[in-house]
Amino acid sequence: MPSLQSVISCLSDYDPSALPVAQANAIIGNVVEPVRGTEQLAIRAALDRVLAEDVISPIDVPAHDNSAMDGYAFASAALASQATDVVLEVIGTAYAGNTYDVAPAAGQAVRIMTGAVMPASCDTVVPQEFVEVQAGGNQIRFAANAVRAGDNRRLRGEDLARGQAALSAGRILQPADLGLLASLGVAEIKVRRRLRVAFFSTGDELRSIGDPLDPGCVYDSNRYTLHGMLRRLNVELIDMGVVRDDPAALEAAFRSACENADAIITSGGVSVGEADYTKQIMAKLGDVTFWKIAMRPGRPMAFGRIASNGREAMLFGLPGNPVAVMVTFYHFVRAALHRQMGANVPPLPMMRVRSVAAIRKKPGRTEYQRGILAPAAEGGWEVRITGQQGSGVLRSMSEANCFIVLAHEQDTVAAGDTVDVMLFDGLI
Ligand code: AMP
Ligand code: MG
Repeated sequence: MPSLQSVISCLSDYDPSALPVAQANAIIGNVVEPVRGTEQLAIRAALDRVLAEDVISPIDVPAHDNSAMDGYAFASAALASQATDVVLEVIGTAYAGNTYDVAPAAGQAVRIMTGAVMPASCDTVVPQEFVEVQAGGNQIRFAANAVRAGDNRRLRGEDLARGQAALSAGRILQPADLGLLASLGVAEIKVRRRLRVAFFSTGDELRSIGDPLDPGCVYDSNRYTLHGMLRRLNVELIDMGVVRDDPAALEAAFRSACENADAIITSGGVSVGEADYTKQIMAKLGDVTFWKIAMRPGRPMAFGRIASNGREAMLFGLPGNPVAVMVTFYHFVRAALHRQMGANVPPLPMMRVRSVAAIRKKPGRTEYQRGILAPAAEGGWEVRITGQQGSGVLRSMSEANCFIVLAHEQDTVAAGDTVDVMLFDGLI
């Protein structure tokens, strides 16, 4: 594994006190490595898991040329030989799940159902709604221009050819993939073992649900948002609760997390000038840097790797503010955990939409404003901010359905300007 120092020393303009988002992500991406363990699972159990090896199709899908419609199969030579109407004798019926063994001759057709194997010599299907049935069902007539040669025939292997990679290693399995694997007759696949992620909150002002809220205290909410975000990544969770601002308690928590998990996420205690012990213990146990990232919300963050009793874990020390926790999770930790899981995840899509109102912004930092994307009266989509954008206002995340991502160099946005938007939810 590359050390943090060796990765950072390759950067010419590294400034830990004003680190651009992209540079922080590049450093994280270079340090984090995938876990090695794998397991064999039945395909249903593999939903949301990371495929550990390519799946090569053992068969052609579909296995035969077959009909895409209910209609009549025939050889397309009949289309050329007859200028206006095509008239064909119907010699039998091909049903799905059976084979029809008589090859129609010139001038003949076979009634065929959707999915039925194309009879030998046939390459085209005319849908039944284009056909006039004559002679008590023994003859059909249709306009020669109703179909072209090859229409309504699905070709053998057109979905997947035998020997072709159906799914690639690193894929997080989606509902369609389970169906695709089933269509190949594949019962089990090899996936990466689940990542184990330990997390805890730090800060003497934190109280747990059920405890009285003493003066000056707040309920610990970060562990709950982290629980939700980590569940969506389908990792194994180790919730270690609130850890007191006490060197022995913190060291014990970090060591235990390190010995039991692949990654550790903490919140709070990493701000500059923070009086507590979190940063000291992080630094004592490993190779950890403390960044001020050029972003809003979420400036302070610790990143590195710690070790205890021969076990190592990646460490993400997130800020304490509830919105900052979510923003830093989505924009740094999510991709890092995907990488550690061995997952190959394309970047989240961004939409460019009109901003209903002006948004104040300074160049020199990336901002993740919470937005509500909605259909515009005049068509298309438009976005507005949720109101109060303070990094402690968790309601802004709850109300929003997207981040409005204002790039590092971007200046104030005027009403009506186009902005980048990253949706919280996808269909799948
Ligand atoms: P810190 O980064 O430790 O300076 O915390 C910044 C702010 O976030 C303070 O107002 C904390 O009270 C608050 N905070 C820290 N941890 C949590 C938590 N787990 N749940 C809710 N608020 C928190
Ligand atoms: Mg604190």
